[in-house]
Amino acid sequence: MELLQGAVRAYAWGSRTTIPELLGRPVPSPHPEAELWYGAHPGDPARVRRADGSEVSLLEIVDADPHGQLGTRCADRWDGRLPFLLKILAAEEPLSMQAHPSAEQAAEGYAREEAAGIPRDAANRNYPDPTAKPELVCALTEFHALAGFRDPYRTVRLLREIETPGLAHYVELLAGQPDPDGLRALFTTWITLPQSALDELLPEVLDACVRHVREGGEFAVECRTVLQLGEAHPRDAGVLAALLLNRVTLRSGEALYLPAGNLHLYLYGTAIEILANSDNILRCGLTPKHVDVPELLRVVDFQCGDMPVLTGEPDGSAAVYRTGTPEFQLSRVDWDSVDRREVELDGSGPEILLCTAGEVLLYDDEGTKVELRRGESVWRPASDPAVRVRAVGEEVAQLFRATSGTSLRGH
Ligand SMILES: [Zn+2]
Repeated sequence: MELLQGAVRAYAWGSRTTIPELLGRPVPSPHPEAELWYGAHPGDPARVRRADGSEVSLLEIVDADPHGQLGTRCADRWDGRLPFLLKILAAEEPLSMQAHPSAEQAAEGYAREEAAGIPRDAANRNYPDPTAKPELVCALTEFHALAGFRDPYRTVRLLREIETPGLAHYVELLAGQPDPDGLRALFTTWITLPQSALDELLPEVLDACVRHVREGGEFAVECRTVLQLGEAHPRDAGVLAALLLNRVTLRSGEALYLPAGNLHLYLYGTAIEILANSDNILRCGLTPKHVDVPELLRVVDFQCGDMPVLTGEPDGSAAVYRTGTPEFQLSRVDWDSVDRREVELDGSGPEILLCTAGEVLLYDDEGTKVELRRGESVWRPASDPAVRVRAVGEEVAQLFRATSGTSLRGH
């Protein structure tokens, strides 16, 4: 196992305090820092610091010996690439509304754009790689998001509650077909409205949301979110789309799994995210980046209802966030301030361990010992022996463990 240094991504929606604080740097940072990437993504791989002080990227390490680093099964299944990317997200402002393709859609879209000769790094490229991008987001602080379509009966109630003449016609459309097809029809209509129609409708909707919030109505939280998005993007159809999505608040340790086709938008908070090693994003708006509505409509899944919140299933000393996705699995180990039990992590890697609270000690039978403080992580190749871990000091401690999906571990 080797100490791993995450790569900081400076997007405008990031926080100036969360990531610098985690890494022990002065706060606030000069620029917003949005994400910290722990992985072997070619766009920004994490770095391993060697005993002699030199640094080498995890991508180079994996590329040099995929079978040793990933294990044979994982290396063969994913073409010698680490299949997951672990991130810390520090969102101060809302991100874009987006969905990701399934494996089949990604392969087809990638081939289509390759054939059309669109450069892989072009701003209008939807599929820079041929891979699916399932995601799991796990809150470290209270974390707020929009995710998946709300039960249409509730959406009809919300739209009737905020009472806007400009919406009346659409409410009746959805009320007449309160199912995924009705949602698809309404979403498609809204997302393709001409700008002139949006410019008329959006101010009216935002006024109605203000009234509903003032009255302390049943959907005040949802309306506040719509207002926040409308303030930043007053002419964007994504503000209307936000009326259709579940407003989710995760407490620390709670997670959402976002499978292919799920329409989502992260609003605010700090979280761990684990995702397939892909950049295939179809945006729905609320961003200056490339938006391709017809392609988005091919991918979005209009299944509706409450999003399941995962709390982590107990598995030995860990809590496992089970999703069934082959690319990754995330689990969590917590120690309270008196609990100093030892936890054994098998040697079936590849895995990334990230300490998010307190301090832990990792040690194996070969005499390797590594201490990890909050914000520090290690890379464990598949060829490493099993490792034991326990909390040190008197603080509570927390360790996240990112591995490939269970079926692909071992040699
Ligand atoms: Zn996403």
